[in-house]
Amino acid sequence: MPAAPSTKTSEQLLDAKDALAHLATYPRSDGLSIADLMDSTIRGGLTYNDFLMLPGKIDFPASDVVTDTRVTRNVVLKTPFFSSPMDTVTETDMAISLALLGGIGVIHHNQSAESQAAMVRAVKRHENGFITDPVVFSPEHIVSDVLDIKARLGFCGIPITENGKLGAKLVGIVTSRDVQFRDSTTPLRDVMVTDLITAPQGVTLAEANHILRDSKKGKLPIVNTQGCLVSLLARSDLLKNQNFPYASKDPETKQLYAAAAIGTRPNDRERLRLLVDAGLDIVILDSSQGNSIYQVEMIQWIKQEFPKLEVIAGNVVTREQAASLIAAGADGLRIGMGSGSICITQEVMAVGRPQATAVYSVAEFARKFGVPVIADGGIGNVGHIVKAIALGASAVMMGGLLAGTTEAPGEYFYHDGKRVKAYRGMGSLEAMEQGRPGAAQANGKPGTTKHAGVTTSQPHENAATTRYFSESSAVKVAQGVSGDVQDKGSVKQFLPYLHVGVQHSLQDIGVRSIDELQAGVRAGTVRVEFRTASAQLEGGVHGMNSYTKRLYA
Ligand code: IMP
Repeated sequence: MPAAPSTKTSEQLLDAKDALAHLATYPRSDGLSIADLMDSTIRGGLTYNDFLMLPGKIDFPASDVVTDTRVTRNVVLKTPFFSSPMDTVTETDMAISLALLGGIGVIHHNQSAESQAAMVRAVKRHENGFITDPVVFSPEHIVSDVLDIKARLGFCGIPITENGKLGAKLVGIVTSRDVQFRDSTTPLRDVMVTDLITAPQGVTLAEANHILRDSKKGKLPIVNTQGCLVSLLARSDLLKNQNFPYASKDPETKQLYAAAAIGTRPNDRERLRLLVDAGLDIVILDSSQGNSIYQVEMIQWIKQEFPKLEVIAGNVVTREQAASLIAAGADGLRIGMGSGSICITQEVMAVGRPQATAVYSVAEFARKFGVPVIADGGIGNVGHIVKAIALGASAVMMGGLLAGTTEAPGEYFYHDGKRVKAYRGMGSLEAMEQGRPGAAQANGKPGTTKHAGVTTSQPHENAATTRYFSESSAVKVAQGVSGDVQDKGSVKQFLPYLHVGVQHSLQDIGVRSIDELQAGVRAGTVRVEFRTASAQLEGGVHGMNSYTKRLYA
């Protein structure tokens, strides 16, 4: 083959072997450091979509990436995920599931103190595999009550206690066979099985499993030494019982961590006592503008009254706000004002801050005092989570991203042919009216409390109004909207997707852990690039006639 004609160039080509050595002669690495990106004198406030992480070098598998993270002074989680304290996001199911998966669900306070405390207790009592809040009936219930549970919840193996409550003496059990062909008004005392096989409280899952298998029954009641019902084990649950290696647990008691939100009014102190009695580990002071005298006094009071309780204060978006709360004794801060998907605060109040700038600014300050921060609001995908962490957040808090999962409160319904769940801002008029007589309920009945399969609405002082300091206003000014989000399936599949997604992203960046990512950002070795509006268009799907977006399998 004839030699290609040589291209004449005035530039002397370097030897390819020297590429790495030559790189070192550049005054700085490619791209920008986050400190340079965030120099607000150049670009103003930024948010997650305004920049990208630059890739580093991969020399390890994504599964090696460690996502352990300190979320308050004394609590370390294995995954950086919180769910929002909102009445369409976090009640018992979400809190238990998130804790099992390595995050924390913050139970909302737009409900009575008693029902919030019952949810905290359910999280603390949860033992994987055991049902700690089973549907329980009394001998006076009738056959149609069992059929109703079967129709609504799909099972009819129900333990019977003297008074129909958990914690009372177990006197029988009914199953589908016992109620079949019986008159619907027959009392359960006439049909229940009283010759019971039970297991003692404290039995391990493996032992209970054996007893269930030998007994050939579908349900195994667990009783204490007085014969009172403490929980239930179901054969069907055993079969699908998973392992949860990341579970967020108190290292001493081995119980799941429980977190709940409260306000800063005087009666929130009584609420907090009930929550602490129920076993609360982390309290979140829930306010849209956290830098208030009420919050400072509340933190100081909590630190005196319950020194072991971790206090996450907020919300804040500036160093100055953060400084007040850190000085008052906060163990963690929640960052965000106006960035939530349901939020109209920036529009209506003209107050807030673009979220990436807020997270960077507060995290950089709080770090000096050993106070972790949680980036709250505006998390719409895995990329946003990674960017929030790169900006210094220890974890993210998600509302809209989790509101469509099975574990969020409320029922699915159809909207324009799509299966959806209600999701609303706590500053929406609908949430602020919750609990007032005659207040409209959103679809899917958020804010109601489901206990033992029964949904009840309980009167209470409205927490949504106090979050927005509007409890005494004659005119309520909305700071959020109410709507619905698409079905996302179970959080038990969705959260692992977020987690593995974060691991892959960190692998691309070339860091093996959250700690390494944040250290690289501080050292300027992890680089980023500013993203113009047209670069953002380029980075999304474009030029397609139609497409399907499936996120995980
Ligand atoms: P998302 O994850 O983007 O949906 O945002 C959830 C976050 O929005 C919550 O954790 C709260 O901090 C915030 N938020 C909740 N309700 C409202 C509201 O009505 N107005 C403004 N912000 C809200």
